[in-house]
Amino acid sequence: MTTAHGAMILAPFTAEQVVHLNGYQLSSEMHPFTCPTEHPDGHRVLVATLHGWVCPDCAYDQSWAHIFMADWPHGPSNCVSALREARRG
Ligand SMILES: [Zn+2]
Repeated sequence: MTTAHGAMILAPFTAEQVVHLNGYQLSSEMHPFTCPTEHPDGHRVLVATLHGWVCPDCAYDQSWAHIFMADWPHGPSNCVSALREARRG
């Protein structure tokens, strides 16, 4: 599947893709996917799950990701620990 933004993947994602997608979201190098709704506490960064993206603060979801995001070059262990940090926050 291809759009003007390049190749895409669609949910459901694999467990490995979820790790990479969330690693991408938590990296400071790229702008993450965010919920279109402005939440007062600022938690708008979408969280990747096996079933697609979800907003931590509302019912918004999204089913696609850029294919490069699913292979985001960070170690899986780094991604998992970063995800735990994010969920704690
Ligand atoms: Zn939201």
